[in-house]
Parts: sequence; C-alpha cells; structure tokens
Amino acid sequence: MSMPRKIRCTVETVASHGGRVYTVDLHPESPVPAFHPGQFLHLTVEDYDPAGFWPESRVFSIASPSRERHRLRLCYAVKGRYTARIEAALRPGATVWIKLPYGEFVIDPADAAVLLAGGTGITAFTAFIEALTPDHPHSVWLAYGARCPELLLFRDMILAQLDRVPSFHALFFAEHDAPNPAASPDAALTLPACMPGRITLDSVFHHAPNAAASVFYLSGPPPMLKTFSAGLAARGVPADRIRTDAWE
Ligand SMILES: Cc1cc2nc3c(=O)[nH]c(=O)nc-3n(C[C@H](O)[C@H](O)[C@H](O)COP(=O)(O)OP(=O)(O)OC[C@H]3O[C@@H](n4cnc5c(N)ncnc54)[C@H](O)[C@@H]3O)c2cc1C
Repeated sequence: MSMPRKIRCTVETVASHGGRVYTVDLHPESPVPAFHPGQFLHLTVEDYDPAGFWPESRVFSIASPSRERHRLRLCYAVKGRYTARIEAALRPGATVWIKLPYGEFVIDPADAAVLLAGGTGITAFTAFIEALTPDHPHSVWLAYGARCPELLLFRDMILAQLDRVPSFHALFFAEHDAPNPAASPDAALTLPACMPGRITLDSVFHHAPNAAASVFYLSGPPPMLKTFSAGLAARGVPADRIRTDAWE
C-alpha cells in the first residue's frame, strides 16, 4: 500500500443527481499515489497550510479507476453538517485538499463475491467493477439500492460491464419509482430494471445461486451495514466472509 500523501486539487466538474447527491471530478496538482479499488480519501474544504495540522474533513471512497492518477472522481450525499459545507464550497475552479490513500476494503479477486451497495456506497465498488475483465473466473453479484432509479449512479459503466463480463451480475433496487424532478434530464434514458423497495437478503440469495459460498462486501450508510451484517450472520455466513466499509 502507498504512503498517504496530501495533495491540493482543483474542482473540475460537479454534477448534481438530485436529492443532494453529487459526483465531483478533481484534478490533483500532482499525480496521486497508487491506490487499490475500494480505498478512500479524506477531503477538506478548509484553507489548509501544509505546515500545520490537517483540518476537519470527511472521507469518501475513490470512485475512479485506480489506473487514473491525474483525475479523481467521488460521489457524495449531503447528510449532516460537513457535507452541507462541502456542497456550498465545491464549484468548478475551487481549490480543495485531499489526503490518500486509506482503507483496506479491497475485494479479493480469488473468491466469488457479493457486493451490497446502498446509495453512494456504490463508489467503494466502481473501480473494481470497471476493472473486471471478460475472463474474470469467479462470480461477482452486485446488489445496488438507491432512493429512486435516477440515483443509481454509474449505470452506464455497470450496464456495459454486465454485457462484457459473463461472471458479473447485478440486481437493482429503488425505494421510490416516482421520477425525481431534480434529477438530470437524461437520467431516465439509461435506467436499468429495478426491483421495488430496499435490497433484501432474500432476493440476493434467491437470485445469486452461490451466494452462500461467496464473500460479502457491504458498503453504505451505518444502518444498512448493521442490518445486513446481522442478517448474514443469522443465515450462517461466517464472520470472516462478511467485510464492511464502515461508514460513520
Ligand atoms: C470508509 C468510508 C467511506 C465513505 N465514503 C463515502 C462516499 O463515497 N460518499 C458519501 O456520501 N459518504 C461517504 N462516507 C460518509 C462520509 O464520510 C460522511 O461521514 C457522511 O457523509 C456524514 O458526514 P456529514 O458531515 O454529512 O455528517 P455529520 O454532520 O458529521 O454527522 C454524522 C452523521 O449524523 C447524521 N446526521 C447529522 N446531521 C443530520 C441531519 N440533519 N439529518 C439526518 N442525519 C444527520 C448523519 O447520518 C451523518 O452521517 C464514507 C464514510 C466512510 C467511513
């Protein structure tokens, strides 16, 4: 794993998906250190003096592929105080600081995997999914849930990989199917078919034939992680086959 570095970045683009969910592309002023799919960065919008202490920040999964060292993508949802501050500060041309890479939420390609993603939790998996090749030898099932279909991010990449990689499968869930008026106007064009409601372990085990023999990776808000960790344990999945990207 690389040693974490602090790097100043310029905000290139900010895309609003509606529901106060955003995708942000950052241009780092020097190439970022090597990182693994599933790792995360700290982002601060404070005036940071590299000679001083690291200021208040929040952590976000690195959604862009690990081969990209000159551009970083992250997605965030406004939940509380600091993400509201990030929402107000992040504009194209703004300067922010990041430090990276961190985390050990790295998918082991040597096992069958079930990826459970809630909301912007998908970003812990996108670099891994994007790097899957057609000869990937083990099954990878993604169960991805969002508030509404428009908030299923990275749809085009996921659908392209479903076409290209025979061992990759996906289940989509949306809590509400009503159109989200604040979503981008072209969102409806490429929506995958969704199951209504939240992700359930019943549907995952029903659709994924070898789920019981897979390693489960959970990424999303804390209540989701708690529910699925308990549900998987109740189904007899051993603790060492349940990995979480613990959100706080
Ligand atoms: C490893 C890791 C990766 C992460 N990756 C991502 C990512 O890719 N994208 C992403 O969006 N987030 C991600 N998070 C979560 C993110 O870092 C923030 O912790 C989260 O957005 C909360 O920050 P905040 O400033 O909005 O909330 P804070 O003000 O710090 O509050 C903490 C929590 O309290 C609750 N809360 C506070 N105020 C309110 C309120 N008014 N209404 C309801 N609830 C409230 C929220 O649940 C909030 O999460 C990740 C976290 C971890 C640990």
